[in-house]
Amino acid sequence: MVKFSIEKKTLLGRLGKIESWGPVEVNHHTPSCMTYLRAGHIPHLTWDVAENQLKLEQTPIYQMTLPSLVTNAKIIEKFGKGAAKFCGMPGKNAIHLTPFDPLGKLPGGYNDSKSIAVWTANGKVSLDVKTWRSIVNSFGCSSFESLVDYDTPKDAGQKKLVKAVDRTKTFHEQLFLQDEKVSGERVVALGGGFSKYHRRKCAVDVGLAENTAAYTVEFHEFTEGKETDEKEMKELLEETFSPLPPTKLRCISGPFNPKTVLFLVQQGIDFFDSTFPIKLAEEGHAFCLADDYPTSSKYEVVDFNNQKFADDFTTPFEGCACYTCTKYTKGYLQHLLNTRELLASILLVIHNMTEYDRMFKLIRKSLENSEGL
Ligand SMILES: [Zn+2]
Repeated sequence: MVKFSIEKKTLLGRLGKIESWGPVEVNHHTPSCMTYLRAGHIPHLTWDVAENQLKLEQTPIYQMTLPSLVTNAKIIEKFGKGAAKFCGMPGKNAIHLTPFDPLGKLPGGYNDSKSIAVWTANGKVSLDVKTWRSIVNSFGCSSFESLVDYDTPKDAGQKKLVKAVDRTKTFHEQLFLQDEKVSGERVVALGGGFSKYHRRKCAVDVGLAENTAAYTVEFHEFTEGKETDEKEMKELLEETFSPLPPTKLRCISGPFNPKTVLFLVQQGIDFFDSTFPIKLAEEGHAFCLADDYPTSSKYEVVDFNNQKFADDFTTPFEGCACYTCTKYTKGYLQHLLNTRELLASILLVIHNMTEYDRMFKLIRKSLENSEGL
């Protein structure tokens, strides 16, 4: 099971603790984030580098994303020892399997009544329930998500919304048919797009099922770079959560910046993923929280592609104790980006993930110091 307990509720969010994730003991405090994997590793890092240079605060819970592995699904099944071993992950880890890549594209118009579209580097793969169940079983992760019809853009009409929620419900029912085995903890995906009514309907239709370990809210239309409205997000999340048991872990997936994370924590979200730091690193960017974060929600994004850093020999971020900031200069990062060296992404991922991790620590600390409800 996903053993999760809420330790404190405040006006700014809730503090919790995940004691175990499936069979793995983690003692992971929330708010926090899963560690995003692509092709079974932290993007740009080998496991050696991740183990030796990336110092995260807590035992990680990994988010294994399907699109970069789906074309190997049959091979992984034949391999017989699970996706983690196939990808060379060291040790015994808590791993959550999601059918989507939160940094991948999700164009509309490709889902149908039998399957959802998953996008790989080589194009579309239609994922039906039977295939998903077989992948879940052969990948052998600690947990997995139910399928959700995510094709609910802002301008979706009633017909499309009804269809999306109906499909999500059907996929859910088919996935958990009584006589079909599916192994791992069940994280139920909740959709409904921009409609309060359909958010609530979806939560009622799929969220109340027995054996639900946690929830994940489909919110890809609200991630970094999209136009978002806090009032709208608040209302949609309220509709989603109000019919559901309040004590279960609430996850959300996708790149959310430090300001949005604070806002979502306040709305009761416990668990994010680490795609924001990866997204920035892949653009040659690094970020740093303001000194008074999370009292203020401010943070700075620095673009190391900028020529102005070429002869800047200062540390990337004063006060940051990460491998990158203690060993390298701004000028060197600029040089690596300029010459398209792979080391640039490695160093930026290490800094950004360290800072994102520190951000959650600061948020937890501020919740500890806030008055309980
Ligand atoms: Zn750093």
